[in-house]
Amino acid sequence: MLINYKEEQPIVYQILKNTIESNKHSHAYLFETNGYYNSIPLVFSFIKALFCPEKNIDNHCTKCSICPMIDSNNFPELKIIKPDGMWIKKEQLAEMMEEFNHKALIGSKKIYVILEAEKLNKASANSLLKFLEEPEDNIIAILVTSNIYQMLETIISRCQVISLKPYVSLLSVKNTENALSLVLYNNENPDEITLEKIKTVISFLKYYENNHLDTIIYMNKLWHATIKTKDDFVIAFEILIMYYKDILNCLLSIPLEYFYSYENDVREIAKKNTVFSVCHKLKTLLEYKEKIKFNVNTNLLMDKLIIELERG
Ligand SMILES: [Zn+2]
Repeated sequence: MLINYKEEQPIVYQILKNTIESNKHSHAYLFETNGYYNSIPLVFSFIKALFCPEKNIDNHCTKCSICPMIDSNNFPELKIIKPDGMWIKKEQLAEMMEEFNHKALIGSKKIYVILEAEKLNKASANSLLKFLEEPEDNIIAILVTSNIYQMLETIISRCQVISLKPYVSLLSVKNTENALSLVLYNNENPDEITLEKIKTVISFLKYYENNHLDTIIYMNKLWHATIKTKDDFVIAFEILIMYYKDILNCLLSIPLEYFYSYENDVREIAKKNTVFSVCHKLKTLLEYKEKIKFNVNTNLLMDKLIIELERG
């Protein structure tokens, strides 16, 4: 049920609720997960509400015959596509399009979901693009990605982008957000240790932007002395990603989202970057953030990260 996400994703909840209630849906949605832990269940609650003739958003539906079929993964008008190995292949999309060319049997719409949409290869992205360019009223595309920077601009521009609130503001790191907002907006005293970590990450980023590969020589002092545990790494990467997103906002002349009290600092770093280089950095950071989940050698990981960032 969508209402389960009202507290953690208030803006998205409102957008999706309005969509259902007004009965005015887009032809294509792109959900940017931003590491939100409950993103897939949220997407499926939305899909259920789209299909349900009772338009059930906030209650468990007991009236229609469609909701139980979706729950048991047994609804013919819903097709889910996910990578087959490394990539989502053209044949997988062709199969879906072929199926969808037949008339809807039970409901009035058909929905296809593409999970890990950043894994569309060139051929599949192009065939999807053609499909998106000629939208049919009763077909809705729902794309889900953890890495929007890896996707074709032409696909993104044909979708309504629904950006979920990052993981950093939820769950175990609730304190970080408080601390971060305190640091950024100069409120009361955040806890000392968290504050030190946030400051470390931001000075690391500034050092890297000025010294590039030389950062590796001072990695212990700049990073490892303070960022030690897996949790530290997750928070630290979230902060780096937020900062680079704001650098990108700055380059695109969009108002800053996170570090607006520090606009001059962000602007200085933006001058050293291009849209292309920032997108490369964001893509790299998102990839490395995933790697932290496994028990990797963090010294090696950080050295490799710097080398990879430099490739942009
Ligand atoms: Zn229902």
